[in-house]
Amino acid sequence: MTKDISVIGGSAAGFFAAYLLAKQGLDVRVFEATERIDPSPRTLIVTRYMQGLLGPLGESAVINEIRHFELFTDGRAATISLQRPDMVIERSNLIRKLAEKAEASGAKILTGRRFLSLKPNGKSLKFAVSCKGDREPAEESTEILVGADGGFSKVARSTGWPETPTLPLIQAVVDLPEDLSPDTTRIWFIPEETPYFFWLIPHSPTQGVLGLIGADPEESRRSLERLIEEKSLAASNFQSARIPLYTRWIDNHRKIGKSDVYLVGDAAGHVKVSTVGGVVTGLRGALGVVEAILNGGSSRQLQALRRELDRHRLIRRVLHGFTQADYSGLLDMLTASTKRCLGLFPRDEAGKLLFHLLLKQPRLLLLGLRALL
Ligand SMILES: Cc1cc2nc3c(=O)[nH]c(=O)nc-3n(C[C@H](O)[C@H](O)[C@H](O)COP(=O)(O)OP(=O)(O)OC[C@H]3O[C@@H](n4cnc5c(N)ncnc54)[C@H](O)[C@@H]3O)c2cc1C
Repeated sequence: MTKDISVIGGSAAGFFAAYLLAKQGLDVRVFEATERIDPSPRTLIVTRYMQGLLGPLGESAVINEIRHFELFTDGRAATISLQRPDMVIERSNLIRKLAEKAEASGAKILTGRRFLSLKPNGKSLKFAVSCKGDREPAEESTEILVGADGGFSKVARSTGWPETPTLPLIQAVVDLPEDLSPDTTRIWFIPEETPYFFWLIPHSPTQGVLGLIGADPEESRRSLERLIEEKSLAASNFQSARIPLYTRWIDNHRKIGKSDVYLVGDAAGHVKVSTVGGVVTGLRGALGVVEAILNGGSSRQLQALRRELDRHRLIRRVLHGFTQADYSGLLDMLTASTKRCLGLFPRDEAGKLLFHLLLKQPRLLLLGLRALL
């Protein structure tokens, strides 16, 4: 077993992979482009599935719990109560905790090191890393390289993976409306504004994030401002970025000479395209890559992740075909038993959720097929 692994990108997926590998006694270095492990704040919502992956470590990043979802479309409303609450997390806390854990397990974290390029070198890989203040890039060597450097992965580009399309996501911190309880997330389906949805996720008793995923950044910003005005909300601190659009599974392993290169997290496009959530799937991808490294290539975790991401792609294809009338029909079909089902199965188990939902409400299948066609 080789013992020399370099992870490019010190964020959720990279540090989780580094922690798991270092825990196995492997020699792991993490190269992070920013000067310090001090990520900008970002409010995220994840299901309890994260708990199963991270255990108590995940708990420390939790800033709020969500017990209900209120869905709105064209004057209609429906409430889903979750059997196990979702967790609202502060991304910067999660990343710092994962970094501490990786370091405590023996991984070496090198900040202010930007990966530039790579080339084969006998049994290993050589890669160039720029360091602020140095006139020339440093040359590093590794046997296995893990690219966890986000949606615009330089590792992926240098290794010949095709560019992943991305989507603009924008959210702003707002004061919660008086009629919204901090344990409730609001979702609006307004297809003439976005084929995705708007959300308002409380992260404290008084504030939350209001956001949307769109197709065009300028248009998304305008749509968000319209909703802020319509709901008379006070907004500040806009957070935005582009996130990968999962269009199909790509093999996240390549051989360069005799060495292995893996991609993980946003770099591999491991994002649920139904909701554009990438934290849990990125952590699952990290688990899968570690499994593949330890097993010499195979990973059941990666196979399961592929199935999960493909199911979310199907859901997204259906929802992308939805008109306003379809969303109204969808909310009308949410009977007490379908709502119970939606509250029981987390969206990170899409297969189970869809199976039970269609059993309870077969008319949903017709609605979905019509939208697909
Ligand atoms: C506003 C917003 C809200 C979101 N909300 C949710 C949500 O509610 N739930 C959810 O599940 N997901 C959400 N997401 C998506 C989620 O945040 C991402 O999928 C996840 O954080 C990706 O983690 P990652 O570790 O793969 O990559 P990133 O967090 O993108 O980390 C990549 C790291 O690589 C470093 N890096 C980049 N290039 C180099 C280089 N050349 N050399 C060295 N280092 C490099 C970067 O500095 C960074 O630290 C949201 C995204 C955004 C933008």
